[in-house]
Amino acid sequence: MGDKECRYPIIRNFFSGKFHESKLELLEVRSPLDGKLLTFVPMSTRDTLDEAVKSAENAFPSWKRTTVKERSQIFYKYHSLLLENLDELAKLVREENGKTYSEAKAEIEKSIELTEFACSIPQLVGDEVLEVSRGVECKMERNPLGVVASIVPFNFPSMVPHWTMPNALMLGNTMVIKPSEKVPLSMVRIAELLKEAGLPDGVFNIVNGGKEIVEAICDHPGIKAVSFVGSTKVAKLVYKRATSNLKRALALGGAKNHLVVLPDAQIEMTANNVIASVTGCAGQRCMAAAAMLAVGETNPIIDKICEAAKKLIPGENLGAVISQEAKDRIEGYITEAEKQGAKILVDGRNAKVKGSEGGYYVGATVIDNVTPDMAIAKEEVFGPVLSILRTNDVTEAMAIENANPYGNAAAVFTQSGGAARQVIERASAGMVGVNIGVPVPREPFSFGGWNESKFGALDITGKSSIEFWTQLKKVTVKWNAEHGVNWMS
Ligand code: NAD
Repeated sequence: MGDKECRYPIIRNFFSGKFHESKLELLEVRSPLDGKLLTFVPMSTRDTLDEAVKSAENAFPSWKRTTVKERSQIFYKYHSLLLENLDELAKLVREENGKTYSEAKAEIEKSIELTEFACSIPQLVGDEVLEVSRGVECKMERNPLGVVASIVPFNFPSMVPHWTMPNALMLGNTMVIKPSEKVPLSMVRIAELLKEAGLPDGVFNIVNGGKEIVEAICDHPGIKAVSFVGSTKVAKLVYKRATSNLKRALALGGAKNHLVVLPDAQIEMTANNVIASVTGCAGQRCMAAAAMLAVGETNPIIDKICEAAKKLIPGENLGAVISQEAKDRIEGYITEAEKQGAKILVDGRNAKVKGSEGGYYVGATVIDNVTPDMAIAKEEVFGPVLSILRTNDVTEAMAIENANPYGNAAAVFTQSGGAARQVIERASAGMVGVNIGVPVPREPFSFGGWNESKFGALDITGKSSIEFWTQLKKVTVKWNAEHGVNWMS
């Protein structure tokens, strides 16, 4: 099996500043856009992880000793390289993930914004010093943890790695990252650009693979902290395994996000926001709206939502889903809901794209009369499908939202400040929007859900991430001892 048979060279692991050939088992990587073979990804073993951790351990002492200002110079350069290569990076994300070009471009722009936050870290981490007693100073230093790991999902091949990598490295850690085996290509370019920006060898390392590598990361004695983003099922496994090995861990899981739509909501704006939230990135966002809690008489808004859904053409302004398996799962949820009595207002099943017949597409779908007991109302569908649940009032709507085990995002559409406040207060979710369908908090605010959407005390981005990636050293100092004064005086 040679490089010539696929569109890109076979993926190699990256450690000690170099890409390494291997004789590991290889897995196919296909483009969701047309189903064509892109490359092969190695299914690494524990031995490969050992080598990557060794590389990160070797790099740590000198990286830790560089000043935060010196590190930020490298990330300013990296930021410029992201800007220079924006178009190429966006095309790569599109090709391996299946999203539209404008969505892929927005993903790279968000990666750039996350790097900007990392560059601002020197302004946020000044040490604190106080004279706590006569002649005695107490100083609080923020120290890196050592070698840390980041495990990422398929749906944002560039943005999610940028939630963790720039901040963790800026704060003096070295990292091993495990990309999703479904989208390993963007990470190759990220490593090349970091090297070009002047990042020393071994500070950033990539180990490709699946379950075996994730488990090995949780077990590895050289890794001090594990950050995970992916499904709730795996987030729970990772959080339990990493913490049982006494590591610091933060594991973000799946989602089922509810939009509460009140009859006084502005029709056009609400319909456009709802449909954009449901179908953006083909519904494969952990912030995607999945269930609309229609309170009272909202038919004019629902009509507009259907109109907007019908304007989305798979392969044009609606991207592909990640795999045939994902397409079958999503369409299975729609068919099951239909059988249970839900009404399909817009049907996206059996979507075909001329010239890309091998691609994995699901059209925008709107389903009315969904009831809370149906699987489509309770579980994460992760496709461009809106379930509408009819409710009589905000109390009934919030009872449905609260009963769901997830808790990533919720939003309300209304022109009433009082009604909005009620939803904000009652939502059991970490990120809440008012007249915003995808309420992603932008830096310096932090990203993270509640309940089964996140395991661990902190959030993954913004100021909260500074706490996750560092530990505090408290230094109490007394020079020129005065006679008769002890440090407690
Ligand atoms: P996934 O859980 O299948 O995979 C995530 C990572 O875990 C991948 O690197 C994968 O190789 C690894 N993995 C998969 N199965 C494993 C197993 N059994 N044991 C150990 N490791 C395993 O998730 P995905 O399909 O890549 O991504 C989609 C999911 O991620 C959705 O549920 C979505 O909501 C979630 N997500 C959440 C957030 C958030 O911020 N909460 C952000 C993005 C994606």
